[in-house]
Amino acid sequence: MSKRRVAYYYDPDIGSYSYGLGHPMKPFRMRLTHNLVSAYDMLPKMDVIVRIPILASRLPNPLQMTRFHSDEYVDFLHRVTPETAQDMSGGGSRFLTGEDNPAFEGLFEFCSISAGGSLAAADRINSGMADIAINWAGGLHHAKKGEASGFCYVNDIVLGILELLRFHTRVLYIDIDCHHGDGVEEAFYTTDRVLTCSFHKQKDYFPGTGKVEDRGLGKGFGYSVNVPLLNGVTDDEYKSVFEPVIQYLLGWYQPDVVVLQCGADSLSGDKLGCFNISMNGHADCVRFLRATNIPLVLLGGGGYTTRNVSSVWTYETACALGIDRDIDLNLPYNEYLEWYGPRYRLEVQPSNMTDDNNHRNYLEITKQTVLEALRDLPFAPSVGSHAVPRNTVAQEIGLTRDNDLEEDELDVQIRRRVHEALRSREAASYEEDEGEVDSSESEEPPYTLAGSSRNMYQTTYQDESDEDVDISSDDDQEQSGFQHTNAPPNLSRRPSAIHRGRGRPFQHPQQQYHGTRAAVAATRAPSPPKRLFFSHGASAPVIRRPRLWDGTPIYDGPANRSHPFRMSGVDGPDIVMAAG
Ligand SMILES: [Zn+2]
Repeated sequence: MSKRRVAYYYDPDIGSYSYGLGHPMKPFRMRLTHNLVSAYDMLPKMDVIVRIPILASRLPNPLQMTRFHSDEYVDFLHRVTPETAQDMSGGGSRFLTGEDNPAFEGLFEFCSISAGGSLAAADRINSGMADIAINWAGGLHHAKKGEASGFCYVNDIVLGILELLRFHTRVLYIDIDCHHGDGVEEAFYTTDRVLTCSFHKQKDYFPGTGKVEDRGLGKGFGYSVNVPLLNGVTDDEYKSVFEPVIQYLLGWYQPDVVVLQCGADSLSGDKLGCFNISMNGHADCVRFLRATNIPLVLLGGGGYTTRNVSSVWTYETACALGIDRDIDLNLPYNEYLEWYGPRYRLEVQPSNMTDDNNHRNYLEITKQTVLEALRDLPFAPSVGSHAVPRNTVAQEIGLTRDNDLEEDELDVQIRRRVHEALRSREAASYEEDEGEVDSSESEEPPYTLAGSSRNMYQTTYQDESDEDVDISSDDDQEQSGFQHTNAPPNLSRRPSAIHRGRGRPFQHPQQQYHGTRAAVAATRAPSPPKRLFFSHGASAPVIRRPRLWDGTPIYDGPANRSHPFRMSGVDGPDIVMAAG
């Protein structure tokens, strides 16, 4: 079998999260899988993308998740902390309903890892660096735009497919989880650029959607394919439906990429699933798609009998590498070997459960109905394409996006500099004012800052009732025991506004230290200016990355100190400031 370049994403943190005691979803299964993949010595054969936890920047930020999810939902997930988790669970909000989706500790990081893997997989396919990209932590197909569902919070599949659509015209999504892939189908229900095809149990089973008649809407009509199956479907039966339907889709839809959600709850003996498929039967789907030689993304999904999940995903990793026929099914020694007793073999055997698909030729009728519906499908719908940059222009030139929610070190430094500049300017003005009356209005400040000392002073001074700023009010003085008669000795060092004859002598020691109420107010107003280009000394200017309203970095030309780089009309006027 010919070779494929396989990229494999794994985050060592993923196995540490817990949905809570007694919850069927165990993120630990990913650690078990990775351990087995490693024990079979497959890692050296792949391009392994292991996220180093301290490099958190490689995880998608909340903004990236809003490509599909609503802002308020992502914000909600972001706010789950150990303190708030309990209150946010169990129907405490409209985003997490029921017991399926508890708000557990580290929820947002968990979602980030899952989504980050699928985005990394899509990136490897987009860049042509891999033929097959694997993220077993992904495949969370139930998550909706603004709601968690069926153990899924962030829909990594939709995010990954959206990334693939930047470079590819048509994406075929196939879902072999026991449950209907409703979140993905819903996301692409009205477009012909993604064809979703799900094999699942539908009747009397979560989530209840996915009938043969559900075929899409508008432009997407015909591009949602559903194959509902009944309890106890076997390997051969599954194959007899899967292969003809997928073969038809591959030939007629001509996808550029295939995304396969390998939910392992369709395996025999799953705690929540109800099919009777063996490991081999499950892996046949992977082998079938690998043989087509179309770029392939393999994602995880459901699967609630932990050792079966790790066995099948390990075996499917071997399928992707093309070494599935060569590996020893007697398990090699590994850290979690005791999980696989008593046979200690890489296998999931079918059981003797009842097969409901035999009744009244159900399977054949379903297959014919699905294929008949597909006959209306036009051949390979095209889309107007245009050149797509590999990355944003800012990324290309090395200006990476900051974390938009947090003030970074540069912001702090700039704010400190601004305050120092304001205070030194005030101090300088006292020196000039000393002994001179009415000279304060002679000079304009070298720059204007929204809420600068000048404006802030006038505002705060004229508004005598502004308790927040006027710290030298009589009430304050009386409460603090400070007396007017105890004026500071160097009263001559007074701020300019006092000289204008508009105010009382200032008497508070703190004010004396800072010079003016304006300066005091300035130190109390820590919010930094939104955008500030700050050149200091002889060194190159430091550019604060300008952004569009949605946070996208912009860069439209080189910056130099004689012609400071300015953006205007995006978010108010810019500020150019030179300071030592
Ligand atoms: Zn499932």
